[in-house]
Amino acid sequence: MNCPRCGQPLSPGARFCAGCGQAVAGPATPRSAAHTITWINHFIHEVASLSVRDLARVDRAHAVEIIKSPVFRLLCLVAIAPLAIQTLEGV
Ligand SMILES: [Zn+2]
Repeated sequence: MNCPRCGQPLSPGARFCAGCGQAVAGPATPRSAAHTITWINHFIHEVASLSVRDLARVDRAHAVEIIKSPVFRLLCLVAIAPLAIQTLEGV
């Protein structure tokens, strides 16, 4: 791959041309664990807020569809688990 500005060969993974300093669209940054966790948190937040919002105001058929979805059930399980543990432990 060469610099789009001056044509100088770029070293692999370089974000700037060594010759002219032109910013180069490098390869996608590798996904770190932190990035993945952030993404998952974002996803859960999106799904949860969507579900709550939808349940509050959409028509019943749509709400049932959401409740039936595996993601929603998983979220319910995750939300209920601490309560269930507390109850079982008699705290
Ligand atoms: Zn260049």
